[in-house]
Amino acid sequence: MIEKRQFYINGNWVDPASSTECQVINPSNEEPCAVVTLGNQADTDAAVAAAKSAFPAWMNTSPAERIALVEKLQKVYDARAEDMAQAISLEMGAPIELARQQQAAAGSGHIAAFLKAAKEYEFEHQHDPNTPGSYIRNEPIGVAALITPWNWPMNQVTLKVIAAAVAGCTMVLKPSEESPLSSMVFAEMMHEAGFPPGVFNLVNGDGTGVGTQLTEHPDVDMISFTGSSRAGKLISKGAAETLKRVSLELGGKGANLVFADADDAAVERGVRHCMNNSGQSCNAPTRMIVQREVYDAAVEKAAEIANSIKVGPADQEGDHIGPVVNKVQFDKIQDLIQQGIDEGARLVAGGVGRPDGLNRGFYVKPTVFADVNNNMVVAREEIFGPVLSIIPFDTEEEGIAIANDTPYGLTDYLQTQDKGRAARVARALRAGMVEVNGRSRGEGAPFGGMKQSGNGREGGPWGIEDFIEVKSVSGYD
Ligand code: NAD
Repeated sequence: MIEKRQFYINGNWVDPASSTECQVINPSNEEPCAVVTLGNQADTDAAVAAAKSAFPAWMNTSPAERIALVEKLQKVYDARAEDMAQAISLEMGAPIELARQQQAAAGSGHIAAFLKAAKEYEFEHQHDPNTPGSYIRNEPIGVAALITPWNWPMNQVTLKVIAAAVAGCTMVLKPSEESPLSSMVFAEMMHEAGFPPGVFNLVNGDGTGVGTQLTEHPDVDMISFTGSSRAGKLISKGAAETLKRVSLELGGKGANLVFADADDAAVERGVRHCMNNSGQSCNAPTRMIVQREVYDAAVEKAAEIANSIKVGPADQEGDHIGPVVNKVQFDKIQDLIQQGIDEGARLVAGGVGRPDGLNRGFYVKPTVFADVNNNMVVAREEIFGPVLSIIPFDTEEEGIAIANDTPYGLTDYLQTQDKGRAARVARALRAGMVEVNGRSRGEGAPFGGMKQSGNGREGGPWGIEDFIEVKSVSGYD
């Protein structure tokens, strides 16, 4: 059993004030694999105080000094990529190959992309050549609290920490209580890279404890939050009293519009993307909305692909999907699958219960529902498991209307060979990201949502800007 009770505060691993312990459960076998501490108000206060006292010196470092430290971090991170993959795989159940190639790799990719963005970012520039002595300065907002989820732990942590550090903010990271181990490895990396004491601090805790304390703390200047829309609403309310900035990256219920002229691989691509990471991705294309002419063939193909996806433990090599993160999620997903059946959706793959031979561990069968109506609960709720809903449509207008009929607006997908239609539909979709024909956005493109998927944009200059206060200075030259 891994024992990691300390927190990283002011450049040191320190004993916590709290004595409340939390076991991390290995989702592959339901056994405890680690014990960490859940912080209390005194721990939160100590971390915030360290960040506050480090801020004046850190904000006055040059961008080049901050970039040099991030360059060191990149080397340390890449040298310890295997440690990171092992920690992620153990704590949240990602199969080790996925943990290496996607989860840990995402962190490295974000560090590299922010280095590029930071070198190009204008921290100060002249406002208007006709108004001599008038400048715009992009200054750090101050102490940032970073609250992250468990599903892509290093993806989220690096998107926030590197952006905040480059901007000149100091910070307190509170990772999910489900996935504290990867963030503790990351804190070791920040230490080894040589960030000054107090710039980066880590306190473990849950939402009602450290999460709420950071949200309400008068010395925290902003919250950068990634997680559920439910918690995002609570954080917005909690932060209102101190009027701190709140940047939110929340849930999704992605539409994948498959038109009759979609390429041959479109359906398979959509199913695999939906099931990737056991369906635990905010940007998963969970509603496949298929044009009637190709609907029956798409349903058949989707069932065939889902039935071919293997499920297994996280420490097993191979390209199977792993368990879901915990019992709460497992039970919720089982319940939603049962609701789909009860509401009359047609089950064509998977269903309730564990896959054959996997009796212990939070394993869910890759599940596909056909003939789903967009008002059914499986089409409306973020299930966060390997469950796909297929919905038929006739006209382009109808397809767009179904896609947009959701409280979420994170990522939508569309599959068509018609470029004019692709441009038209991409404009009409109310989502922060639209991906056409499986072509990726590229490193450093903005990631974020509309509607109840949040208001932040992470990655590239947009990610840095989340942590910036704009100051207008005039009258000297
Ligand atoms: P969650 O909201 O339960 O928890 C996320 C984090 O917030 C955790 O660290 C948790 O301890 C903390 N938290 C919970 N309640 C809080 C409160 N009241 N005050 C302060 N902090 C609180 O979400 P989760 O189950 O860890 O993650 C899954 C969710 O995250 C899904 O909805 C998913 O779509 C979303 N997500 C969004 C993005 C994105 O970029 N939009 C990326 C990944 C995950």
